[in-house]
Amino acid sequence: MNRPDKCVPGSLGEQTLSVHGGNHASGTGTDGDGAAIRVPIIMANSYNLPPDPSTMDWSNPEHLTYTRNTGINQIALQDKLCALEHGEDAVVLASGVAGLHAVFFGHVNAGDHVVVSDTTYEATYKLWTSLLPRKYGIEATFVDITDHDAVIAAIRPETKLIATEVIANPTTKVADIAALAEIADARGIILMVDSTFTPPPLYRPLDDGAGLVVHSLTKYINGHGDAMGGAVIGRADLVEPIRSEAMVDVGGVISPFNAWLIMRGSVTLPLRLRQHQESALELARFLEADERIAYVAYPGLESHPQHELAKRQFGAGDRGIGGFGGIMSFALKGDPDLQNRFVNDLKVVTSAVSVGHDESLIVHVGTSGPRVAAYPEGFREYGHLRFSVGLEDVDDLKADLAAALDSAVG
Ligand SMILES: *Cc1c(COP(=O)(O)O)cnc(C)c1O
Repeated sequence: MNRPDKCVPGSLGEQTLSVHGGNHASGTGTDGDGAAIRVPIIMANSYNLPPDPSTMDWSNPEHLTYTRNTGINQIALQDKLCALEHGEDAVVLASGVAGLHAVFFGHVNAGDHVVVSDTTYEATYKLWTSLLPRKYGIEATFVDITDHDAVIAAIRPETKLIATEVIANPTTKVADIAALAEIADARGIILMVDSTFTPPPLYRPLDDGAGLVVHSLTKYINGHGDAMGGAVIGRADLVEPIRSEAMVDVGGVISPFNAWLIMRGSVTLPLRLRQHQESALELARFLEADERIAYVAYPGLESHPQHELAKRQFGAGDRGIGGFGGIMSFALKGDPDLQNRFVNDLKVVTSAVSVGHDESLIVHVGTSGPRVAAYPEGFREYGHLRFSVGLEDVDDLKADLAAALDSAVG
């Protein structure tokens, strides 16, 4: 296959791009007779210098000089992610949090202001409640991101960024990205979307007007629970400062080995997503129908407050494969001891953090913590079990949940 133009998906289908994307990025040594047809792992910190390096820009993030500037495996993964997300440019970093921090660090300065969803991944919350305000004097206003009047009311002349997750971790609140992009665009503000729960081809926030998309590659995009990584994808003028500052100058570079693992893991992303979603919807319905369950938060259920938005935003067709992702939160009617007994009685589902792995993961999170005030009633009363549905046989998962319910509740 000839190398597609960087980041241009052309007419290729999702699975084709997932297989071939980035494999023929320039400089990867995959051209010509006898060349490897896959990008090999280049575990080298440095690359040969030109005959006269004395006038080189040592911080050039495009030149193969030093692996903290860029590297073969980074380039290949960036090209693939860019094509999958319909971006103009992409940068890959050491972790999802490195990606989030890179956006904040690269686009927000002392004295600026940001509007942040009141329901976010823990590290985003900590960055905006503590680290960035304390160290740099940047102010953040937390809002219910589904309340667009509140979003608009929170915007100030010095607001630089609106930050949200598409489906929020852990409550599964769904943000209306097209509406938020309109609000941001009209005021010259960057909309940054953490799309970790909704990787392509489920959803592409850039198509709906977001300026930047962040992914924890650790989750669905790698999908195998063995490598960490992060990515920022989007408008070229917005990605460029992130690449030079966060990667070259701050040093949040991904290991070539991890980039290679993620490249490999992402080959099956569309196939895996279909299965994750199909099983998740079946299990969400199964749990919701059980009277021992207090609540189930999953955008695919009619009971979900943003179910209609989710159907529209993640609809099948040109926009993607359709679906609601593979992550839900729920709780049993009872105290924390009961939730713990249930989790400890599971035999197939693993009790561990992270999401989007091949194996099903569950984590019991209680009702303490400052963010809980912004959570729905069930979360405040019972806490929640965040459940990332894996690729096991759905009947085995159902039987596992049913048996643990029986043994825990008695
Ligand atoms: C896990 C996660 C992150 C952080 O990613 P790491 O790779 O663990 O640094 C960010 N956002 C969301 C929504 C996540 O689930």
